[in-house]
Amino acid sequence: MKHSISAILFDENEIQTRISDLASQISKDYESKNLVIICILKGSFVFLADMIRWFTIPVKIDFMAISSYGNRTESSGEVTIKKDIDIDIKGKDVLILDDIVDTGISMTFLFDHLKKYRPNSIRSCALLVKQKPRLREIKIDYKGFEIEDDFVIGYGLDYAEKFRNLPYIGILKEEIYRNE
Ligand code: 5GP
Ligand code: MG
Repeated sequence: MKHSISAILFDENEIQTRISDLASQISKDYESKNLVIICILKGSFVFLADMIRWFTIPVKIDFMAISSYGNRTESSGEVTIKKDIDIDIKGKDVLILDDIVDTGISMTFLFDHLKKYRPNSIRSCALLVKQKPRLREIKIDYKGFEIEDDFVIGYGLDYAEKFRNLPYIGILKEEIYRNE
């Protein structure tokens, strides 16, 4: 699979070090709260699995699935819910966990949607944040890494459902998607 990648951005060690730092910050911030993590499928499942094992506080976990990308590498701008949360978050402290923030459309949508369930608070956490002007301005409370505007894969992130199993985060070679 390495021939599909033009560069490795973050290897396993760099990812684990950053995630353990994030987890200790979050554990501190939510010490006396009722933390519910909402993991956004599918791209964030690896991030979630690693992150929660560093937590030193109790945490509830739920999942949402939304779609906006399909098999392309650019956002369609339209978000639909494929799976909503199951647990009651009323009065709870919600942390949305996503793999990557690009345009900000998904995160804005998630905030607006989850607010309707009347949680006590909502914050956002993204492993990767693209540094570019966002279509929707949104505050990312916990950021793993800031990256340039490349299409990245691995560590849960896919291209056309492939590459999620790569243990590192890399840049997908343009020739892989240019002609599709
Ligand atoms: P946004 O709504 O902020 O434009 O995009 C958020 C979603 O688009 C992410 O959760 C992710 O699923 C997908 N996405 C955005 N940029 C990338 C990327 O570089 N690589 C991959 N694999 N997915 C991306
Ligand atoms: Mg996603």
